[in-house]
Amino acid sequence: MNKRDYYEVLGVSKSATDAEIKSAFRRLAKQYHPDVNKDPGAEAKFKEIQEAYAVLSDETRRKQYDQFGHAAFDGSAGGGGFGGFDASGFDFSDIFDSIFGNSFGFGGSSRSSSRSSRGNDKLMRIRLSFEEAVYGCEKSINIDVDTTCPDCDGKGGFHEETCDKCHGSGTVTSEQRTLFGTFMTKTTCPKCGGVGRSYEERCSKCRGRGTIRENKTLAVTIPKGVDNGYRLKLSGKGDAGSNGGPNGDLYLEFIVDKHKFFERDGDDIYLEVPITVTEAILGCKKEIPTLYGNINLTIPSGSNTGDKQRIKGKGVDNANSYRNGDMYIILKVKNPKKLSRTQKELLLKLDDTDLEDDEIRSFNNYVSKH
Ligand SMILES: [Zn+2]
Ligand SMILES: [Zn+2]
Repeated sequence: MNKRDYYEVLGVSKSATDAEIKSAFRRLAKQYHPDVNKDPGAEAKFKEIQEAYAVLSDETRRKQYDQFGHAAFDGSAGGGGFGGFDASGFDFSDIFDSIFGNSFGFGGSSRSSSRSSRGNDKLMRIRLSFEEAVYGCEKSINIDVDTTCPDCDGKGGFHEETCDKCHGSGTVTSEQRTLFGTFMTKTTCPKCGGVGRSYEERCSKCRGRGTIRENKTLAVTIPKGVDNGYRLKLSGKGDAGSNGGPNGDLYLEFIVDKHKFFERDGDDIYLEVPITVTEAILGCKKEIPTLYGNINLTIPSGSNTGDKQRIKGKGVDNANSYRNGDMYIILKVKNPKKLSRTQKELLLKLDDTDLEDDEIRSFNNYVSKH
């Protein structure tokens, strides 16, 4: 996907105000609307403009876009199999109604504001500890969402009646006298805005919008195995739709804290185990932690820093991939920086014995003849 930068599409700067964005959109939309502009590329261009405006005119979306670019809406940032972010839920008709009103008359049909539209999707970032991400957890989440107004049940008013101006048709016919004669023109009913019905009493709680902003607390079960950047989709937990339209979705994106000892790479876990020089030389048994409790690790004699052992199936048990990662142990031999007198004597004694192996001998041999 080679999408153009939204600011570039609208020809505004990154610091453009809402008013600048709106006016740029209005100008471009009029120029490229397929009803007006019959150039072959106009429709694609128009769609591009619509999309850019839908994002930049919404404070939340704009912030997401500024931070993540196009990836904020196409799912590639998360990459998790929990479902990508779906931007197809935008209802562009809203933008038209709000900018042009119904008088612009796109396509000749009146765009009725009674059209149901899907609620906005939401994206929320959640911080998890390493353990919460690995084992899964229950989280209580606070979020501001548009919910259906309880007073008017989302209708925006009470005592619905057929609009008396247009008698329910949504359009009114008016006469226009000109030099060439009298013309009859159909326009959207100014009283009901094309809906064909009106309410005797507007709902005061939602001021006719049908939705109210509400702070909600959601209990969410985070599945085991999620990782940094994963997105979890909570269907229908976004903003409420209008006029019976479906709710948007809520996406949770995770930021996972690091662990003091375990390091995670996908579903595999890496653990660096520090051992003493004698443990490395003589070999030993050592208790080490895993994600599923301590185990006894056998360290063979003659071990070195960087030696790796795989413990199958002791990685992350991922609910999404249905697989268990592995655990990798990496040894780190800690040579003492300070020695006691006894230790030094013992080591000097050891040094008198022949400790050279083939690799060392071959190297020394090369040096002496160089
Ligand atoms: Zn209401
Ligand atoms: Zn009317």
